[in-house]
Amino acid sequence: MNEKILLVEDEKTLAKALKFSLEKEGFTVEVAYDGEEGLQALSQEAPDLIILDLMLPKIDGYEFCRRLRRNSDVPIIMLTARNEDIDKILGLELGADDYMTKPFNTRELLARIKAILRRTGQLEQGGRKSIRIGNLQVDLIRHRVTMEEREIPLTSREYALLSFLASNPGRVYSREQLLEQVWGYDFCGDARTVDVHIRHLREKLEEQPAEPRYILTVWGAGYKFKEA
Ligand code: CA
Repeated sequence: MNEKILLVEDEKTLAKALKFSLEKEGFTVEVAYDGEEGLQALSQEAPDLIILDLMLPKIDGYEFCRRLRRNSDVPIIMLTARNEDIDKILGLELGADDYMTKPFNTRELLARIKAILRRTGQLEQGGRKSIRIGNLQVDLIRHRVTMEEREIPLTSREYALLSFLASNPGRVYSREQLLEQVWGYDFCGDARTVDVHIRHLREKLEEQPAEPRYILTVWGAGYKFKEA
């Protein structure tokens, strides 16, 4: 195991102690002492996970998360004070994967880091060859989509969008995240591009495109694929 963790924490004593404990577990640890430094570190490193203190100088954890989530799904564990709004932290707006209330037990933090990395590692490596949800089957090797054994012709972009959403059922993605994930960094279209592709996919997949059963709209947030 040599996963890279970015630790953004302005309490130097805590940061050093955590770095020490994490390195002892075999992680590579990069420390940033404020949000600005953290964002800089992000542009140079590609961490597998971020441990992020909420109260930080310059750019705080809230703002850090918002900027990060515009183009990254890297898991975040937030370090918070006792009275923080956990719904908001784990919710769509900030999208942290987990949180720890200070003061916390380092062993507990390690357990959560490992759980998250295990989960994301499975998602990435997965090794899945196809996805079946309801009557819909996505063949990830041949890039074919069938509905009740009947092949649905899709453009390559429609396929990319569908296979991305279907690989992460139940997870909500904003239009911006989908642009990022499916169209890539250099795409400079606007979010309506996503809506148009979703509409086309629904017309091809859904019995009643106006009442979709597979690709669902989450009002004010984005889209998600139906859970199996
Ligand atoms: Ca702090």
